[in-house]
Amino acid sequence: MEKKTYIDAFDPEGKSRTVCGECGLCLQQCPVMKMGKAESQAEMGRLLKGQETERVLNECTFCFSCNHYCPQGLRPYALIMERAADKNRSIGKGFPPYMDYLLTGKTDSCVFWDVYAAESAEEKSILDRWESVPPKSREVLFIGCVGREIPYDTEHSFVFKELPKYSPRDACCGELAYRYGDYQAFFGTVERTRKILERLDTERLVCYCGSCANYLGNIWPNYHGVKLPFKIVSVWEWLWEKYRKGEIKVERPINRKVALTDSCYSSELGDGFMDAVRGLHRAVGMEVVELENNRFDNLTCGTVSILRNNYDLREGVKEAKKKMAQVMNTGVGDLSCYCPGCYMQLRGAARRSNIQPHYALEEILWAFGDECTVPLEERAAKQTEFFIEKVKTPSTV
Ligand code: SF4
Ligand code: SF4
Repeated sequence: MEKKTYIDAFDPEGKSRTVCGECGLCLQQCPVMKMGKAESQAEMGRLLKGQETERVLNECTFCFSCNHYCPQGLRPYALIMERAADKNRSIGKGFPPYMDYLLTGKTDSCVFWDVYAAESAEEKSILDRWESVPPKSREVLFIGCVGREIPYDTEHSFVFKELPKYSPRDACCGELAYRYGDYQAFFGTVERTRKILERLDTERLVCYCGSCANYLGNIWPNYHGVKLPFKIVSVWEWLWEKYRKGEIKVERPINRKVALTDSCYSSELGDGFMDAVRGLHRAVGMEVVELENNRFDNLTCGTVSILRNNYDLREGVKEAKKKMAQVMNTGVGDLSCYCPGCYMQLRGAARRSNIQPHYALEEILWAFGDECTVPLEERAAKQTEFFIEKVKTPSTV
């Protein structure tokens, strides 16, 4: 059955009243708040009753980590999302237009569509080709909102040459709608995108973005109740398989020490995903340095923290600084981000430092022989420019 709210995912079997004993372990393990026992139990009690919390709704970074510490298999992240979205609704300002602008297909205006419109004629013709359903194929590469910003190298990729590409402009995993507390927009995005993806005749959908893999393969079926008729795999796990089978080889080693930042969705995708990312970095010659918080207790880049206090953009900056402090503590000057969202957020946070952020996928593909003609950096700058312009536009709400 399809789920219609966040809270359905907290309590998949409808038994939280008897099962959640308010043990508070989820909040005690939270890498951000690290609460003591009494405080965590009191805060869980407030969350369950829908009361204002003392800390959680002001400090949670919506990272998913607590889901992995509940002995009853509940998903406290989803409960917190429900309460955070309710709180914003009760503040009464509504979803600001600059947030709608981030969501693919919610309105007629979207930051990604504006970036695509600014691409070259050749890139636009690639995007047009990717609108068509490819012929039956064992595997298909699905390219989501960010990947469409840099279509040229993906289309001409040696590594992806066997994979038909599919990327209609309206197809979106729905991450931003879900993460920013607009469940209705998420619901609409899933309905629209499932129809688009169900046209495919394939056994496995390879997602260019880890977030798409998390949404299509985990959040849709396990949180929301919508299952696609083929397997979902992230590009990272796909590349790691190819490398280990000897089907791709390192052509241009990258001898560099990098601090590696995990993404929120890594803990949901699990060890297989996180090991594949690290394995590929090492395979191409990089030395990986871990941050103090990583893997299942990773700190976020801050992108989603703007959900706090009714989309206060300063909340994101606050969290990005914490992540950057951990990067600086490693003493390593190069930061590898495999999540496009983390890359975009942290390149802003790194601006006045000696840290150089890198978008990991384009570097790894380059090491395997692909070119990087139009780096994500170029389009990320454009996207930021469009978004800032929208934030400055006076609200009519
Ligand atoms: S989502 Fe993350 S920050 Fe929020 S309570 Fe859970 S572990 Fe803590
Ligand atoms: S959600 Fe799970 S970990 Fe958190 S208080 Fe309830 S039973 Fe304990």
